[in-house]
Parts: sequence; structure tokens; C-alpha cells
Amino acid sequence: MSDCIFCKIVAGQLPCSKVYEDDELLVFHDIHPFARVHLLIIPKAHIVSLAECTPEHERLLGRIMLLAPRLAKEHGLDSGFKTLLNTGRGGGQEVFHIHAHVFGGGDPVAHI
Ligand code: AMP
Ligand code: ZN
Repeated sequence: MSDCIFCKIVAGQLPCSKVYEDDELLVFHDIHPFARVHLLIIPKAHIVSLAECTPEHERLLGRIMLLAPRLAKEHGLDSGFKTLLNTGRGGGQEVFHIHAHVFGGGDPVAHI
């Protein structure tokens, strides 16, 4: 997707503050963090949102979910963290390449 900013990050055409990468996933710091630690886990493949996922994405979605606690621990979020997936404009999604927010640290983020 030539006009997708997260695809451009995957392609190395835009910078990011990378914290993790494998053959399917990329993780980087959110540019406008909600909390002391705020990571975005994205698939390298362009998938618009959770609403476009099908059973063939089950394994990939599971990998994203299991990566969240691992990276939270590595970033010192010992007392807990929040995960967030915004889906569609009505769900507050602004970047239409699926991503899981993982954030915490500092004040509790229970209000979000
Ligand atoms: P959402 O509302 O779930 O679509 O969230 C998109 C998130 O992407 C927001 O929290 C933005 O701050 C973040 N974001 C947008 N552009 C970039 C970028 N170039 N690098 C890192 N994070 C970004
Ligand atoms: Zn994309």
C-alpha cells in the first residue's frame, strides 16, 4: 500500500524507533505516547483492521497478543499494561494498517 504510513515504515521509507522485528511483525514506539511506554505492534503485511481479518489471520493475531506481555515485561511494565486495538473510524482508528497499542508506566491508565 503505497500511501500507508505503516507500510512505509516496514519498507524503511519512514523512520521509526524500533523495538522488535521478525519475519512477520514489527514493533516501534508510538510517536505520541499515552504513557511512559507506548508500543505499536504491527504485522508487516498490510491488513486494514480487525474487521478485515479472517480465520487465516488467527495465528498472526495470536502472535501479536503473545508478543504484548513479552515486550511489556522487557520494558519494565511489571505492574501491568494496557492493550488497545482501534477498529474503523467509529472505533477511533486513524492509521488504517492494523496495530495493537501496548502501553503503561507512570500513572495508571485505567481511564482509557
Ligand atoms: P490509531 O488511532 O489506533 O489508528 O492509532 C494510530 C497511532 O499511530 C497513534 O497513536 C499515533 O500517535 C501513531 N503514529 C502515527 N504515525 C506514527 C509514526 N510515524 N510513528 C509512530 N507512531 C505513529
Ligand atoms: Zn499498510
